[in-house]
Amino acid sequence: MDELAMALELGFSQAAPLAMEALAPNAQVRAMCAADRCGMYGRSWSCPPGCGTLGRLEREMKGYARGLLVQTTAPLEDEFDAAGMAQARTRHRRSFEALVRCLRRSGQQDCLPLTAGACRVCLSCTYPGAPCRFPQKRMASMEACGLLVSEVCSRSGLGYFYGTGTVTYTSCVLLRR
Ligand code: SF4
Repeated sequence: MDELAMALELGFSQAAPLAMEALAPNAQVRAMCAADRCGMYGRSWSCPPGCGTLGRLEREMKGYARGLLVQTTAPLEDEFDAAGMAQARTRHRRSFEALVRCLRRSGQQDCLPLTAGACRVCLSCTYPGAPCRFPQKRMASMEACGLLVSEVCSRSGLGYFYGTGTVTYTSCVLLRR
C-alpha cells in the first residue's frame, strides 16, 4: 500500500504529497506563537522558544527529501461546538500517531512528524527545568516550526478550510527518501 492510501486507510479525510518548497519558516508565525493565544508559549520543549530557532528548524527540515500532508475534517454542530472540535483533534492526533508508527516500521525510522498543537506525550512537560523525557517521541507543531499552514496546504494542492460548520486539523511528516 502506498503512503497516501495508508493515510486514508488510517482515517484521514485528505492526504497529499507535501510541497517541500513551502517549508519556509516565517517570523510572523513565530510572532503569533509569542502572542500565546494557545497558552503553550514557553511551556513545552515542542513549542517556542524551547523547540529552537527558525534557522535551526529550517536546516533540519531541509535535510528531508519529501513528505506527506494529512488532514482530518469533521462536522461541527455550530461554531461554538468545543466538544466536536476536541473530538476531531483527538481523532486526528491518534491517526497521525498511527501513521508515524507505520512509517517508522516501514523503514522511515528518522522521519520528522510535525503535528497540530503542542506535544502531548507526557501529562506534564519538563520544560524548562529538565531535559525532554522522550526526544524520540516528541512532536512539534507545524506552527512551532514557523510554517504558515494555510500556505503549505494550498501549495500542496489541499484546502485549509472546508466550509462553515466544519473543522480541519492538519499535520505533516517529512521523509528522508
Ligand atoms: S515528550 Fe514530554 S517532556 Fe518532551 S516535549 Fe513532549 S511533553 Fe515535553
